[in-house]
Amino acid sequence: MIIFDRVEMAYPDGSRALDGVSLRIPRGQFCVILGPSGAGKSTLLRTVNGLAAPTGGRTLVDGVEVSARTLPRLRPRIGMIHQQFNLALRASVAANVISGALPAVSTWRALAGFFPPRLRRRACELTEAVGLAPEHLRRRVNALSGGQQQRVGIARAFMLEPDVVLADEPVASLDPRTSRDVLELLRAQSRASGATVLCSLHQIDLARAFADRIVALRNGGVAFDGAPDALDPAALARIYGVATGPAPAPEGAARLEAAR
Ligand code: ADP
Repeated sequence: MIIFDRVEMAYPDGSRALDGVSLRIPRGQFCVILGPSGAGKSTLLRTVNGLAAPTGGRTLVDGVEVSARTLPRLRPRIGMIHQQFNLALRASVAANVISGALPAVSTWRALAGFFPPRLRRRACELTEAVGLAPEHLRRRVNALSGGQQQRVGIARAFMLEPDVVLADEPVASLDPRTSRDVLELLRAQSRASGATVLCSLHQIDLARAFADRIVALRNGGVAFDGAPDALDPAALARIYGVATGPAPAPEGAARLEAAR
């Protein structure tokens, strides 16, 4: 369970990214954080792995408050998938995937490139699970397409069998077809492992198609929290601040016309 308890974030330059967000995300949920650019999605995600430290309130993972003191314990349990993939482009697919285990391996072992056979096996299995054939393991990442690179990013995030996966706009730089394939994979991996996923997106159709639950942010506050089916035109108007309410029904329109 992830708990956001009145989380506030004011950056030093005065930008208020989060304005008292309170949410409870149960274990295993695929929760999409939706909202326009600048709404606070990325900041909210980053409070979970300590990349952003709230200036008010707190974020808890399974009852443990995220802080400098608890991060060494929490980090190995939290995987992250980035918009720009954040891979080592000149290194192999295998090296990138296995680097997801770094939080659990001592520094000297990591520097020597020594990973136990158990982790090597897991890297191979995950690479296959995300749809990359074994011959890709030795390929350099910069020889892969964007969609293939994000598959590597997903495999890396699941290396340590995380309880939580944070996906920050994971398909923002992919075409629509590849975006669906990548989100499908992310959902399949999280279902298989029981991980809780917080996935920020700005595409409404993808949020509807993949989320168990949609939380929409606007100006750092929660503008919608519910099932994908409940994301109706009125909710979209609250989130994006455009035309309010559904279009009038034809008979309503006819009545309006007659009244003129
Ligand atoms: P989103 O992910 O929804 O696009 P962000 O969380 O990135 O939103 O940003 C929310 C707000 O916080 C924006 O106004 C943004 O400009 C501001 N912001 C984000 N990161 C920083 C930062 N490091 N320093 C100052 N302001 C920031």
